[in-house]
Amino acid sequence: MEKDLSRSPALRQAGHLRIIPLGGLGEVGRNMMVLEYEGKILLIDMGFRMPEEDMPGVDYIIPNISYLKGKERNILALLITHGHYDHIGAIPYYLGQLGNPPLYAGNLAKAIILKRQEDFPNQPKLRIATLQDGKRFTLGPFGVEPFRQNHNITDNFGFLIQTPVGNIVHTSDFKFDPNPVNEPPTDFMRLKKIGDQKILFLMSDSTNAEEPGHSLSEEVIFENLEEIFKQAKGRVISATFASLINRVQQIITLSEKYGRHVALEGYSMKTNVEISRQFGYIKAKSGTILKTKDVLAYPDSKITVVGTGAQGEERAVLMRIVNGEHQHVRIQKGDTVIFSSSVIPGNERSVQFVKDQLYKQGANVFHYKMMDIHASGHANHDELKQMIELLRPKFLMPIHGQVSMLVNHAKLAQETGMPEHNILVAENGQIVTLSKTQAVIEKTKVPANYIMVDGLGVGDVGEVVLRDRQNLAKDGIFVIIMVVDRQSGKVKGSPDIISRGFIYLRESKELLKEVRKRTIGTVNRSTGAGGPINWVYVRDLVRNQISEFLFVKTQRRPMVLPVIIEV
Ligand SMILES: [Zn+2]
Repeated sequence: MEKDLSRSPALRQAGHLRIIPLGGLGEVGRNMMVLEYEGKILLIDMGFRMPEEDMPGVDYIIPNISYLKGKERNILALLITHGHYDHIGAIPYYLGQLGNPPLYAGNLAKAIILKRQEDFPNQPKLRIATLQDGKRFTLGPFGVEPFRQNHNITDNFGFLIQTPVGNIVHTSDFKFDPNPVNEPPTDFMRLKKIGDQKILFLMSDSTNAEEPGHSLSEEVIFENLEEIFKQAKGRVISATFASLINRVQQIITLSEKYGRHVALEGYSMKTNVEISRQFGYIKAKSGTILKTKDVLAYPDSKITVVGTGAQGEERAVLMRIVNGEHQHVRIQKGDTVIFSSSVIPGNERSVQFVKDQLYKQGANVFHYKMMDIHASGHANHDELKQMIELLRPKFLMPIHGQVSMLVNHAKLAQETGMPEHNILVAENGQIVTLSKTQAVIEKTKVPANYIMVDGLGVGDVGEVVLRDRQNLAKDGIFVIIMVVDRQSGKVKGSPDIISRGFIYLRESKELLKEVRKRTIGTVNRSTGAGGPINWVYVRDLVRNQISEFLFVKTQRRPMVLPVIIEV
């Protein structure tokens, strides 16, 4: 692929910057961005994406880094915008492979990365420098200046990057918040000053480019949550993401205000809060945080439980509580349950299940559709336009979103007066070539198909494995075990049949009888000619014929596995 690219006349010219977005499942550049100038490479973020519902058994999708193979020595550094897993999650899988380049991350992101790295003892020791707001540093041809951006996790940085072709800005995930949690509000003067430095190219967050108006301030969320706390008589159980550190802080602050102790539940919740407390990003009075087993020692009105599971995740705290599998907490009448996060598409059914269970068990339930108890961490229309107006870039590349979001972001930019041909809507793997005067999307793509992580294995789940899993999930499995006489090639006795997820065997006696008859017939015919028997051929024949037969009878295609035992 690289050879093809170097033949492209546009790219052979020196003095061009290449910008390549990478990531999983069409979210452009969310998980990784590659910047390359005359062979020197700077990476921004290295995250993963959660799989879709139709990818059974796949844990994460990580970016394809084939483009970087053979270029390890030229990677100057990896810059991390913030500590969310879609920006740091792939580090343990890739950094070692890429020659362990130095990292630059904010305090909180650094601590989360180091903590997670403990789960991967075979990976090399990370070298992480701490980013400081406004503190510039040089990496080869790049000058990097981090600037603070509001999001829903503290220590989130955008980057002003000075390159030989001009200044470029990466916004990171961001929103403008006049009243954020535990950090100063957006510094508009600062952003304007960055804009004064003549920005050639802006890469900006598109996550909420389809949402009108301005994102909600965390202050509004706080007020609404307070209403719930005021009225709550029994325990308050709050479910959110472990990475929404700022939301967890709000719940802790309100608990203290209303005389409640807080029990943190779930491994990721506990670790994230512990790390954040070390840096003062979560503040709690001594005595506020309880061990869960001590929950029973206090009256219900004095207890808040903060856990994971607002997405209906199977192994999360809330699911274990409603299923009665939690060691110390059961739902009882009068409990108040708060879902403080929006529902990620694909999770609607499991969230509905959890909600129904909660109502059945007598809880009062509050979720984001009933009132504003969750704010996204991303800029809506007004803020996206304002960012463009503050930075005044010549070119814009919408990133961090699916095509529909990128295109809507592009439309907003045009409303601010940017000419259409200066806005580049690229796909993952596409190369944007930037010169002092031009920005072009090249026709050639670098490999950008996604890589699946399954347990601790990377990339060993291929398309075939995935298709098998989808078939198994949809139509089940049908195993035929037959004993065949090696000499005569005849089936001995009646074949055994095992089936899962396809048909209920007891109610399908006729069908099974027919399957047995056909199996015996097929084997006996195909082995009867004398001479050596080709067992692979016999097995394939049985598989094909029985699959066909089952499809005709049931309109379903279970995975058919014939097993031949020679005696
Ligand atoms: Zn984020």
